Amino acid sequence: MAKITVTLPDGSVREYNSTVTPLQVLREWKPELEDEILLAEVNGQVWDLFRPLPEGEVQLRFLDFNDPPARDAYRHTAAHILAHAVKELFPEAKLAIGPPIEEGYYYDFDVPRPFTPEDLERIEQKMREIVAADYPLERLELTKEEARKLLEEMGETYKLEILDELPDERVSFYRQDGFIDLCRGPHVPSTGRIKALKLLSASGAYWRGDERNPMLQRIYGTCFPTEEQLQEFLRRLEEAQKRDHRKLGRELNLFIIDETIGSGLVLWLPNGALIRKQIEDFWREQHLKRGYQLVYTPHIARDELWRKSGHLELYSEFMFPTMQIEAHKYLLKPMNCPFHITIYKTQTRSYRDLPIRLCELGTVYRYERSGVLHGLLRVRGFTQDDAHIFCTPDQVKEEVKAAVQFALFILRTFGFSEFEVKIATRPEGKFAGTLEGWERAERELQEVAQELGLDYELDIGGGAFYGPKIDIFLRDCLGRRWQCSTIQLDFNLPERLDVTYIGPDNKEHKVVMVHRALFGSMERFMAVLTEHYAGAFPVWLAPVQVAVLPISERHLPYATQVAERLQAEGVRVEILAKSEPISGRIFDAEARKVPYMLIVGDREAQSGTVSVRERGRKDHGSMPLEQFVDWLKPQLKPPKVE
Ligand SMILES: [Zn+2]
Ligand SMILES: [Zn+2]
Repeated sequence: MAKITVTLPDGSVREYNSTVTPLQVLREWKPELEDEILLAEVNGQVWDLFRPLPEGEVQLRFLDFNDPPARDAYRHTAAHILAHAVKELFPEAKLAIGPPIEEGYYYDFDVPRPFTPEDLERIEQKMREIVAADYPLERLELTKEEARKLLEEMGETYKLEILDELPDERVSFYRQDGFIDLCRGPHVPSTGRIKALKLLSASGAYWRGDERNPMLQRIYGTCFPTEEQLQEFLRRLEEAQKRDHRKLGRELNLFIIDETIGSGLVLWLPNGALIRKQIEDFWREQHLKRGYQLVYTPHIARDELWRKSGHLELYSEFMFPTMQIEAHKYLLKPMNCPFHITIYKTQTRSYRDLPIRLCELGTVYRYERSGVLHGLLRVRGFTQDDAHIFCTPDQVKEEVKAAVQFALFILRTFGFSEFEVKIATRPEGKFAGTLEGWERAERELQEVAQELGLDYELDIGGGAFYGPKIDIFLRDCLGRRWQCSTIQLDFNLPERLDVTYIGPDNKEHKVVMVHRALFGSMERFMAVLTEHYAGAFPVWLAPVQVAVLPISERHLPYATQVAERLQAEGVRVEILAKSEPISGRIFDAEARKVPYMLIVGDREAQSGTVSVRERGRKDHGSMPLEQFVDWLKPQLKPPKVE
């Protein structure tokens, strides 16, 4: 056997003349770390701790739960333990896929009936037994032929389908005790490494997310190295469930998705529509202030347009089928860009006219598989807060900078303060435009981030073929990350659709186009806002801002007077005068998350005051009505941010 030369993270070098695993090296180097180290990295590649090192020069690193690949391996092993437990309890179950996900893992099974809560308890119990037995994991490599034979014997038809799609000649399996699974890995060394585990839920999921395929049963679970981490996660999960926009959407009459309309198609209910109007008014006002021009465009266009724009060639899998109208074929728009380009091209543009910024709250339709639709976050019809900036190459930097500042201003106005910025650069292979154009743009995007004092992450090669982009992610009050704003350069469409301006040299030049959305879409942003505020929207957005509650019927005239005074200030006010006792009506207003409740009785009517309660059971005592009006007024407008 040839030599293995291992370089450790501290620069020390060890030599081996026979088979050695990362775990054995770790035990010699730093045995005290064995409990927390889950995975190795060998020459930059993730590697099981129990997999023999390759011959030759090896750069070896060790990863713990804080390293995303190790966390994934940890959770993936838990997914195998889940499948192992299910196979023991339900031997007829067939395995589909079981990946780690953001906060845990899942596994899909083909079983005759859905799992019940009692099943989940039994499965979880069985998983604990498998963990307690501390079975070592083993990795084996088979040829595709051997693998096919094995999976056929096991009757794992879904795995056979996956196998057929693998390009490799040799494939890996992982085994623990009697359980074996076709799997790329990597994994942690033994089942006993999984400390705190929990199954979370079970639900139906179509094979490959397509409703034409068989319905499988998916079990979600999570696991952590310590019980404290698990409990902290469960607490956050409970908080997130309380804030789930689908639940609050129904409870607060914000929106619904009704199967009679169709999957992924949103009905905005009056309360949600009012919030949306507030957001849109603010959005339009701010755009007009910043030199954008508002346009409206139709929802369908002729197939010729989509052919020229390249959408039919590159994007057709997301487009709804063609409709024939008289002599022409039409398609629903998946994007607004070709419309805005057509508007731009209605005139000859001079360099003196640029930049031209066209904006629209444009509703687009994209086909998404039914399995991936999710509340307002993944839908089939949505309204982008879209804009296209047409400019010269020299104007790109300034325009992008202004767009990033604009995005941050807007997001801050809605109460967000933590952002992450990602810049995606030129992908491998084919790209539009010139290499110099890309290099300049990539440099300028980074300068923009630096000049604005933003920490940014570079996503090397992560850009689309048509141009680099800046994405802005926000963190909500639970620390969850959401993508909202995108500022995307485009060297392709101006070329393809011949979008030009006349330069100072009197010649035609191609414009640079910037696609840009700040919220992403109204639907998505509404979901993020609803969860961020847990439905308790700030006063300027709240559908009902003030509820007036007369203590008894004889206080109704004064309550009406109070309401009229507030309406005169543009306040959205409602009188809650049902015969129900006052405590029930307060409860009702709290449940609807109305920001202010004014309680009026004899004392208030006589002295021209109101008793002010703020949402969340905050009592401000009684004050003159005019004082309340003065207090409320500034809250009716969006908050001022720099
Ligand atoms: Zn696996
Ligand atoms: Zn666009």
